[in-house]
Amino acid sequence: MQIAVIGAGISGLVCARKLAEAGHRVVVLEKSRSLGGRCATRKFGEHLVDTGAQYFTLRDEGIRSEVEQLAGGQLKKIEKPILSEKQIYRVGEERFYLANGNNRLGSLLAEGLDVRKECEAGRVVQEGKRWKVLGEEYHAVVSSAPWPQSAALFGMRESEVAFEPNLTACFEYLIPWDGSKYATLDSTGQEPLAWVGCENAKEGRIQSGKSVYVIQASTAYSQQFLEKDPSEWSRDLSERLERSWGLSPDKRGMTFGHRWRYARRGRGTEKTSALADGLYLCGDSVSDSRVESVWKSGIEVAEKLLAKGGL
Ligand SMILES: Cc1cc2nc3c(=O)[nH]c(=O)nc-3n(C[C@H](O)[C@H](O)[C@H](O)COP(=O)(O)OP(=O)(O)OC[C@H]3O[C@@H](n4cnc5c(N)ncnc54)[C@H](O)[C@@H]3O)c2cc1C
Repeated sequence: MQIAVIGAGISGLVCARKLAEAGHRVVVLEKSRSLGGRCATRKFGEHLVDTGAQYFTLRDEGIRSEVEQLAGGQLKKIEKPILSEKQIYRVGEERFYLANGNNRLGSLLAEGLDVRKECEAGRVVQEGKRWKVLGEEYHAVVSSAPWPQSAALFGMRESEVAFEPNLTACFEYLIPWDGSKYATLDSTGQEPLAWVGCENAKEGRIQSGKSVYVIQASTAYSQQFLEKDPSEWSRDLSERLERSWGLSPDKRGMTFGHRWRYARRGRGTEKTSALADGLYLCGDSVSDSRVESVWKSGIEVAEKLLAKGGL
């Protein structure tokens, strides 16, 4: 079977691998230059910073052993706590990251697959029993793009499932990390600083003598400032960070801001993964917005497709 998977994020790549392993001809279409989607990492001066998923859980034994096999010694655990309203967030939970950046999960998954980067899928149209994308016909198409983008590709109503934006900012300070905690989390949704994580808690990421913080603003704040210039909101967020973590503004170094238009699934129920004969969805349109959950959704969609056999 010829199958197109739209998106080289974690769910699309997991799905594509399973289908390719079962002997199907799979093409992954990815609009950007990078792999991993919202499991994103970037160079920040000499530092390496995760700008999307900060860490991931591996509660499912099957997924855990797949990730262990794939990542080998790159798979690391964050040992320092996350503090949430004065409590330690999910005591005992294991939190994982990849030494060379969480986006490495994407590149590792993509090995051996036919991934076409900088290849933005347009409208998916039905031609008899086949589906056509970018001039090529496939027996099945799986989209892993967030629902508003998938809906546009499929010509469906996007309003059923909303995705929330997120403003993410990174700040470097020219002082070492005090090592007391990894992150602070506001689960009330009231505080503009929804998440502050210190990348120093991830081994080997940050140059010595410096510290780097990743902030995710709350959904309300992100919605309010989404279309504003990053210089406007990143300054405000840095001042809030300095007050909350006791950092000196004089020691502030580099800064950057990133706008995630579709960061996480918000209101609305999950979509079903089988939209029509040969047309499927995976990723957080059909699961919650966590790396482990979208991984699982990629497996489930591949299994569904394989169970159909002749499609
Ligand atoms: C700021 C932030 C922090 C997060 N923190 C965590 C965390 O700490 N732990 C955790 O488990 N999860 C976290 N998440 C959630 C997690 O990152 C996502 O749920 C998960 O990575 C989504 O994977 P996916 O494969 O479903 O989608 P994506 O990663 O979004 O992949 C979809 C891909 O499709 C591509 N695409 C879209 N449209 C097209 C098109 N027309 N043609 C071709 N390609 C297209 C996109 O470029 C993208 O690469 C976070 C997310 C964000 C944004």
